[in-house]
Amino acid sequence: MEIINVTRSSMPPFEEYCEEIKQLWDSRWLTNMGAKHQQLAERLTGFLDAAHMDILTNGHLSLELSLQALELEGEVITTPFTFASTTQAIARTGLTPVFCDVDPVTLTMDPAKIEVLITEKTCAILPVHVYGNFCDVEAIGAIGRQYGLKVLYDAAHAFGARYKGLGAGAWGDVSCFSFHATKVFHTLEGGGVCFQDEDFGRRLASLKNFGLSDPETAAVWGGNAKMDEFRAAMGLCNLRYVAGEIERRGEVEAYYRKRLEGTPGLRLMSLRPEVQPNHAYFPVLFEERAFGASRDQVWKALKEQDIMARKYFYPLTSSFPCYQGKFDPGNTPVALEASRQVLCLPVYGELSEEIVDRICGILLNCRT
Ligand SMILES: *Cc1c(COP(=O)(O)O)cnc(C)c1O
Repeated sequence: MEIINVTRSSMPPFEEYCEEIKQLWDSRWLTNMGAKHQQLAERLTGFLDAAHMDILTNGHLSLELSLQALELEGEVITTPFTFASTTQAIARTGLTPVFCDVDPVTLTMDPAKIEVLITEKTCAILPVHVYGNFCDVEAIGAIGRQYGLKVLYDAAHAFGARYKGLGAGAWGDVSCFSFHATKVFHTLEGGGVCFQDEDFGRRLASLKNFGLSDPETAAVWGGNAKMDEFRAAMGLCNLRYVAGEIERRGEVEAYYRKRLEGTPGLRLMSLRPEVQPNHAYFPVLFEERAFGASRDQVWKALKEQDIMARKYFYPLTSSFPCYQGKFDPGNTPVALEASRQVLCLPVYGELSEEIVDRICGILLNCRT
C-alpha cells in the first residue's frame, strides 16, 4: 500500500512552471534578487498584508537574521511547544530563550504568563502561531509596548490564515514565514520576513547578502540567505493555487471532524474567535484514560499501516540535549502535557475521504 505522509507538497502544472522559468535562459540572472524575486516579494507583501517584506532562502535563516537585524541582546521569551528551529534560532544568535507556557485550548503562548518572566535582560517576545491558529496578538502586542519589547512571530504555520480579516504578515514588529516544501505554500525551500520598520529591512537585506552595504563594504557580520530565481518562480506558480489548496484542505478537515468529533478522550483543536484558518495541520489530542489508548499507541498503529502521522510537537524544545539540561520542561506543564498527547494526522488537498476513513478507523480501533 502507498505510504501516507502527514502532508504532500502541492505542485503547479508542470508546463506553467516551465513557462515561468523560461525567461531565465535568456536573462541568465539566476539569483541575487532578480526579477522573479522582486515579483514574488511584491505579491507576497500584498497576500500577507505586510507593511514591508523580504524573501530569503529558508524559514530558519529568516528567524536567525531577523533576530540579528533587531540588534537584540539578552533574553527572549518564547514557547517550547514549537519546531526545533524557533529555539535554535534564539540560541544560535547568542540570545537566551526563556520559556513561557501555552494556553491549554489554543496551545499558543499564554499572555497571562509572560509578565512574570520579564527581567531587566528581556529584549523580545517570540511566540509561534501554532498550527496556523493565531496567538493572542492584541495581548502580546500590549505587553510588548508596555515593556518596550520587540514582538517577533514565528509565523511558519500561518501562511494564508487570517485574523480579523488580516493576513499573518500584519502582526507584531516582525513575522517570519517558512516556504518549505511541507508547508501550505512553498518555494521548495524558502522563507520570508514581514516587518514594520524600513531600517530593519535594510539591515536584513544586508545580513542575507554577506553583510554588504555596497560591493566594497561589509558593515556587519552577514551570511548568505538569498532566494534564487528558480524557487521564486515556483512561488509565483504556487501562489496562484494556494487559495484552492486551502479550501480543499478545509473540506478534508471537515470530514475528519465529522468522523471524530464527540469521541470521548479525543480533543480536536478550536480556533480563536475571528480566525480564518489555513488548515495547515490537523492535530488531535489523546487523553489516554478517557480515550482508551495513548498517543504513542495510536501513532504506532497508524505507522504499522503506512500512515505517517507526526508528533508535532514532541518533545518540547526545552528538553533537547543540546541545551544540556539548562531548562526544566516541568516549568511549562501545559505545554508538557500537550506534547505527550498531540498527534498531527495527515492533511492535504489531495487526501481522499476513503483514506481519511481508513485513518479514523485505525485510530478509533485503538480504544480498549
Ligand atoms: C518549518 C518551520 C520552521 C523552519 O522553516 P524552514 O523553512 O524549514 O527553515 C520554523 N518554525 C516553525 C514553527 C516551522 O514549522
